[in-house]
Amino acid sequence: MTPMEIALEEARAAAARGEVPVGAVVTDAEGRLLARAGNEVEARQDPSAHAEMLALRAAAAARGGKRLDGCTLWVTLEPCAMCAQAASLFRVARVAFGAYDPKSGGVEHGARVFSRPQCHHAPEVLGGLREAEAAALLGAFFAARR
Ligand SMILES: [Zn+2]
Repeated sequence: MTPMEIALEEARAAAARGEVPVGAVVTDAEGRLLARAGNEVEARQDPSAHAEMLALRAAAAARGGKRLDGCTLWVTLEPCAMCAQAASLFRVARVAFGAYDPKSGGVEHGARVFSRPQCHHAPEVLGGLREAEAAALLGAFFAARR
């Protein structure tokens, strides 16, 4: 499975738990899987428990340091401003995401965290990977809740 397929699997698992279906994966420079996570905002009652935050923290813990140099954060949805800032702080080399998020995204929309002069480490960005699948998961989830 590719990292984005694993992230999509995490997103589906999150939806099954009643969470907003977003999944994230961190791989190292050699492509090895360091961490995978889905949203746990409801389970933890923690609005900051986004998939990216959980995966970044777990990956750093797995490597035994605070930095994720050379690593890629894979996520099914464009990261919000908080997660984009966290990716910068963890020094990931690359952020690869699925669906664009005009409402809450913070990379290509809104805060555009990596484009600010205050951003001291801007990862390379790849958007729109498996976009249709990632967007369909979110669409189905919110349609069911309406
Ligand atoms: Zn986020």
